[in-house]
Amino acid sequence: MQEGHRKAIIARTKRLVVKVGTGVITTREGFLDMQQVGNLSTQLVELRNKGYEVVAVSSGAIGAGIGELGMKKRPTTLPELQAAAAVGQSKLIGAYDDYFKVHGYHAAQILLTREDLEDRRRYLNISNTIAKLLRMKVIPVINENDTVSVEEIAFTDNDTLAALVTNLLKAELLIMLSSVDGLYKDPAHKEIIPVVDEVNETIESLAFNSKTDLGTGGMHSKLQAARVATSSGEAVIVANGRTPHILIKIMQGEPLGTLFLPTTERLQSRKRWIGFTLRPKGRIYVDKGASEALSSGKSLLASGITQIEGDFERGDVVSLLCDKEEFAKGLSNYSSEELNKIKGQPSSQIARLLGTKPYDEVVHRDNMVLL
Ligand code: GLU
Repeated sequence: MQEGHRKAIIARTKRLVVKVGTGVITTREGFLDMQQVGNLSTQLVELRNKGYEVVAVSSGAIGAGIGELGMKKRPTTLPELQAAAAVGQSKLIGAYDDYFKVHGYHAAQILLTREDLEDRRRYLNISNTIAKLLRMKVIPVINENDTVSVEEIAFTDNDTLAALVTNLLKAELLIMLSSVDGLYKDPAHKEIIPVVDEVNETIESLAFNSKTDLGTGGMHSKLQAARVATSSGEAVIVANGRTPHILIKIMQGEPLGTLFLPTTERLQSRKRWIGFTLRPKGRIYVDKGASEALSSGKSLLASGITQIEGDFERGDVVSLLCDKEEFAKGLSNYSSEELNKIKGQPSSQIARLLGTKPYDEVVHRDNMVLL
């Protein structure tokens, strides 16, 4: 049954995002591991030649800049991290380009910040540009724009970026290559779980700290990324990037790494953006009845709202919670100030309470994603 899943996932994959972790392509001394960049580049080209639309999300800018700048270990201050990233990124993209060139392909450097993905126009532009590149002899290589995205270096990681890129491109499969074989059942025995149906608390408890010295990820961030992609209807595989021919073997259906199955139908692009790319500006708490209605496909009305948190405007993304648990996200038709006046009230009272009633629904089901 489970291996059948894997075959079905591979068979439906047309577009593929491959995330390469720092530990996979850099050395402990802080340089690029050229042999590894070469191995992976050749595999990316091979998959492309087999007809897959391949996009890489590659870390390693900081990891490669460390040695170049004569630093002894990964620095801890932001300016030093940014300096290392600025120097290392050119080495990184240059190395991919050199290897791709041998096979007649170019590397396209795309550096993104979280803000780029949150802006709807830029989001669509990025998606159009990548779609165009995929029709040329080009393999896009994406990384965070580390020198400008201060928060990114300090708080997030390329696993999240890779999941958001997977969502943006509606890629059917995200392969995250790291220094471990997959999600371990038990770290002592190094036995991995072949298939995960859902990233729940039990699965999260297995994310022991597997961070490398040079990267920023670890299993915890991989599970979060897997949750984002699988909740949008795509599949994720976490595997060891140093296993020879790993990408080719995975795409031939070999049972390597941990496969995370999609937990829903494939969502439309706009819903992915609302549900996972935009960060919520506030919280709306609803009662049980409303949460059940929403789960069965209805819109949120003011009558089901019990409490509002945060300061948000009309059109902002909000989290929807019931019993303190977040179960959906959506665009609010009303500001937090307005909602504080109409919460718990029937829609017929909105015009009287606010002097205007642009919508019956507080969050329309078309603008909502169940988590
Ligand atoms: N963007 C960073 C780099 O290229 C890596 C971030 C991460 O490892 O998650 O070095």
